[in-house]
Amino acid sequence: MRIKRRAGRKIQIAAGVAALAVMFSAVLTFGYNPFQDNLGTVTSPIPVVAHWNSMPLAWLLNPDTPNSNVSNSNSGCNDTLATCIQNSLKAGFTTWSSATVTGQSLTTASAQYAGTSTLTTPVYNDCQNVIGFSDTNSGDFSTGTIAFTQVATVTAPSPTSVPFTYQCGDGSSRTCNYQDCIGDADMEFNPSVNFSISLTPPSGTFSLQSVATHEEGHMLGLDHSGIAHAVMFPYGDSTAAGQQTVLATDDAVGISFMYPSANFSTATGTISGQVFVSGSGVFGAHVVAMDANTGNAVVDGLTSPDGSYSLVGVPPGYYYVLALPLAPDSNTGVLSIDNFSGWDCGFAASTCSNIPQNPANYTGRYH
Ligand SMILES: [Zn+2]
Repeated sequence: MRIKRRAGRKIQIAAGVAALAVMFSAVLTFGYNPFQDNLGTVTSPIPVVAHWNSMPLAWLLNPDTPNSNVSNSNSGCNDTLATCIQNSLKAGFTTWSSATVTGQSLTTASAQYAGTSTLTTPVYNDCQNVIGFSDTNSGDFSTGTIAFTQVATVTAPSPTSVPFTYQCGDGSSRTCNYQDCIGDADMEFNPSVNFSISLTPPSGTFSLQSVATHEEGHMLGLDHSGIAHAVMFPYGDSTAAGQQTVLATDDAVGISFMYPSANFSTATGTISGQVFVSGSGVFGAHVVAMDANTGNAVVDGLTSPDGSYSLVGVPPGYYYVLALPLAPDSNTGVLSIDNFSGWDCGFAASTCSNIPQNPANYTGRYH
């Protein structure tokens, strides 16, 4: 069962000078080409990427599981549950920091465990990045939501005021050396969903590390991918077949674009173009670069309001580029940026057998 996303929410906290604004990650768009907003309010044709001002990303853990919905039985982790949870979360972050594109490490992304927290619900502006299992605010988990990450960003008062400083909720000041920075990110796992420390979880439970790897991508600033075998594809499967702890090329390119090492731009290329229908640029078309030899979907993105697109970080090779509409939202009839169909193979579907297949049965929704 594929479950509809809940509506994205964005709360503007303060007008005028730099202030943290919170948005649920689902509001943003695909992996490395985020529009910073949803389709309805994009005002700039140029995607603006908010990312952390510096690495590593420091994160805190509230290991309490008041609903006892996390199990480490048959997981191979014989430590305390709190330590097993911490290890699973660390493993997810390591997946991101060790991302490679065509065998090369091209990213400086990293994360650092910074201790425990007692917070139970996300606080968007405390500049504490907390991961927890104790959020009992029922409004935070609509039907089908497995987990979510709340990301708060801050924008320079004007383009000429970079770098700038902003204040956290406790009154401390931080510096942002870019036009947009992520100032706070919090992750909550649904206390009504069962998670397992095991990478091959029992039926009806989700692998904590798999879900965490997706959410940690959001914590680092990534948005969703429209490629179904990517970690950042927003639907999960509670059977073992759908567990995702291995990055797809699109994921690795995304994190490398966000936090590039010095050789990122020389090791990869860019495919640019423009999508037209009847002479008019198409906004929000899903553009997929497919390996010309295998037909596999490699990287994807969305077109800007004028129909232009730029797929960056593309590994050397030969590609075909496919442009297709986002799948219509069957419930509302409105094209939603989040309701793409999930694209795995190009025209050469019969040869597309060497990559993980779509989860056979979408049983839950990541945010
Ligand atoms: Zn997500």
